[in-house]
Amino acid sequence: MKHLIIGNGIAGIHAAGAIREMDTEAEICMISDETVPPYSRPMISYVLDGSQPHEKLPLFPGNIYETLKISPILGQRVVILDPDSQSVRLEDGTGIDFHRLLIASGADARKIRVQGAELENIFTMRTQKDVLDQLEAIAKGVKTALVLGGGLVGFKAAHALLKRSIRVFMLITSPYPLAMQVDEIAGRMILKELEAQGLIVKTGVSVAAFDGDVRVERAILDTGESLECDLVIAGKGVEPSLDFISREKMAMDTGILVDDYLQSTIPGIYAAGDTAESIDIARQTRWVNAIWPEAAVQGRIAGFNMAGRPVVYPGSLSRNVMRVFDLDVMTLGLANPDPGEGFTILRTGGETKGIYRSLVFRDNILAGAILVNRIEQGGILRALIENRVPVTIPMAGLASLDFDFSKLLQS
Ligand SMILES: Cc1cc2nc3c(=O)[nH]c(=O)nc-3n(C[C@H](O)[C@H](O)[C@H](O)COP(=O)(O)OP(=O)(O)OC[C@H]3O[C@@H](n4cnc5c(N)ncnc54)[C@H](O)[C@@H]3O)c2cc1C
Repeated sequence: MKHLIIGNGIAGIHAAGAIREMDTEAEICMISDETVPPYSRPMISYVLDGSQPHEKLPLFPGNIYETLKISPILGQRVVILDPDSQSVRLEDGTGIDFHRLLIASGADARKIRVQGAELENIFTMRTQKDVLDQLEAIAKGVKTALVLGGGLVGFKAAHALLKRSIRVFMLITSPYPLAMQVDEIAGRMILKELEAQGLIVKTGVSVAAFDGDVRVERAILDTGESLECDLVIAGKGVEPSLDFISREKMAMDTGILVDDYLQSTIPGIYAAGDTAESIDIARQTRWVNAIWPEAAVQGRIAGFNMAGRPVVYPGSLSRNVMRVFDLDVMTLGLANPDPGEGFTILRTGGETKGIYRSLVFRDNILAGAILVNRIEQGGILRALIENRVPVTIPMAGLASLDFDFSKLLQS
């Protein structure tokens, strides 16, 4: 049996491990356009902020390809998948066939497409190389940086640059950072903390063009304002890396539609990680939850299924824990639904208290939560969401900052 895995990220390597556990002889080939061994992608922001050296990024000691008897093809991008001939083509023209395929190609950072975007010192932030290039630029002297986007990556980049004592402007369309993850109350608490550390946030604006000789020197905003800057990091979201697949041959929406076994609509071809669109437990609909722990679990389950041991994937759940200088922030499930979608939202605490909790219920089922500080009860809330446990005690009790969770057992 020949297994082919596209992507050497957390999903791909967990799949390879599961296949190897099941079958010591199967051929496993892994292709990636990155040349470095599997590493912790969420940790690249710690390399940028200087709290970790990049040597700490690899996920495994030694040579994981040798350990798992994987034939790696690195530094090459898959450009075409031909499901009919069960083969892929690489950018150098090489063809590679397979019996079972896992698409674990993750996501690519969305590029900024404005005039001047090709100038030096304008980066995205997705790979280890991106961050090493950013550090090289910083080493040559950076006074003012511009971070585009207030999502998780933009936010982590801004946080890291501030820690390096660089003046940072954040440009976002929403009124506060992390607007996709948290509500306005939590967002404003985070914003206040970042502003207290020196972040300058401009809301409702975007960049119209960059200007400079060789390196970026200024950004021209759509308001006409000009901002001097010598480094730009764009965190304008990601797109699943699926450009080598024909949408006519495989069912895709944002990601690859997978069944309960993480198999795509083409038998023998599986997807895991940031490429896979599976059922989201909190939303009760298909969703791409592009987070590290789900990628790991999906990779492992896909690997077992590829190797012939049927394992059902229970569905994904969005979750994140962040330390923002002196704030601990946790989001779970459908933390910030659009208003008027039939949810009951209970909020406790807020900016003046320095502690905040928001719980989102659909009927008596907890669907999401935001916790700012005192996040230690988040594990129990996550279990309630994940297992769709009906809450039979008064919901306000659960939202209380001092709630004694042992009461759940007595109800
Ligand atoms: C800065 C940053 C911070 C993050 N922080 C968090 C966090 O705090 N918590 C969290 O849960 N998640 C976080 N994430 C998201 C998390 O890293 C991803 O969800 C996870 O890495 C997805 O794993 P994956 O294996 O699906 O894909 P990836 O890690 O993207 O790996 C896919 C690999 O496939 C390669 N590839 C892509 N296309 C091709 C192709 N056509 N041919 C060959 N190779 C290809 C890619 O280059 C890559 O090496 C963060 C991401 C970033 C960038």
